[in-house]
Amino acid sequence: MRKIYLDHNATTFVHPEVFDEMKPYFTEKFGNASSIHEFGRIAKAALEDSRQKIAGFLGCKPKEIIFTSGGTESDNLAIKGVAFALHKKGKHIITSAIEHHAVLESCHYLEKNGFEVTYLKPDSSGRILPDTLKNAIRKDTILTTIMHANNETGTIQDIAALAGIAHEAGVAFHSDAVQSTGKIPYTIPELGVDMLSASGHKFYGPKGVGLLYIRENIKLVPLNHGGSHESNLRAGTENVAGIVGLAKAIEIAYRDMKVEYERLQRMKDAFISGMRSRIKDIMVIGDQQNCVPNTVNVSFNGIEGESIVLSLDLKGIAVSSGSACASGSINASHVLLAMGIPPEQAHGAIRFSFGRANAESDIEYILEILEREIARIRGISPLYGKA
Ligand SMILES: *Cc1c(COP(=O)(O)O)cnc(C)c1O
Repeated sequence: MRKIYLDHNATTFVHPEVFDEMKPYFTEKFGNASSIHEFGRIAKAALEDSRQKIAGFLGCKPKEIIFTSGGTESDNLAIKGVAFALHKKGKHIITSAIEHHAVLESCHYLEKNGFEVTYLKPDSSGRILPDTLKNAIRKDTILTTIMHANNETGTIQDIAALAGIAHEAGVAFHSDAVQSTGKIPYTIPELGVDMLSASGHKFYGPKGVGLLYIRENIKLVPLNHGGSHESNLRAGTENVAGIVGLAKAIEIAYRDMKVEYERLQRMKDAFISGMRSRIKDIMVIGDQQNCVPNTVNVSFNGIEGESIVLSLDLKGIAVSSGSACASGSINASHVLLAMGIPPEQAHGAIRFSFGRANAESDIEYILEILEREIARIRGISPLYGKA
């Protein structure tokens, strides 16, 4: 059966050029970057070259990049690290209601430990309005954390405007850029953030490696204790092969950015207009003017997202629904509910995330299968057409 992977926001394959770059660091160049002999020096050089390369693309200083095990760890370190460093100054944190669980759960943990968190609501297109942030800032606010691009809808926030508002009030600003990195050509000076998280496996790098950008003057308390790795902020022997892969993945993403952006945008436009002409009662979710080029979130009235995911999987097409099925009860996506989308429609939402595993010529085939499967599921759905 023809297999089509449309879940690039969940993870991507490792780009063959990335894999080739990594291989020697598993075999002959296996040294510990902290060792002073030649094996160690070779690993250390690869580590620092990678840091420099990434800093060049992101437009920051190499020493402002800390390597981590991925987006989740970077988010935890940024949020808890600043909270613990600044708790004497204040105990209020601002985030949004549409963040990834890595951010939301870090905030919930802090709430259980004496901090107060405000969860900003987006507008119906998923954007956090600058005034919403302005009105939430208090004297005791120490940190604002708002994601760059949303993993479910692809909606991009105006981070420069939001960070500017935080800075006017003397509040540090972190952004989870896991879904924008490698997809849109940002630099850190353009965004104006103090901290930023990215993860290798979301842009054709390996899993288990990511980075946290930390502006020079920002103080954080480390969460891992041990050796003096990564400027004393992240103890643990560095994942040199992974870091070399992360740097290569960033290089390839910035090298191919324009071509890949335009290719994905063409696919997305063809997919959305194809769906609109072939399938009725659908709602495309998110701000299409401010969106990463690979993500389409669409709700199919009258059916459950989960049944669409399972039906498409049987046809060889991998997609995802924002809803999580916990012990038989399906919860609608917190992102879509926060945007004010009614639960019935949020339940029928599917995320299609395109990428390098897809060709433009796949679109017609995907639309054919989708049209047929939606019609079939609606035919047996007790909900469809009964409202
Ligand atoms: C995937 C993802 C994360 C988590 O990154 P991992 O490297 O998988 O831990 C965090 N934030 C967003 C927006 C993501 O999409």
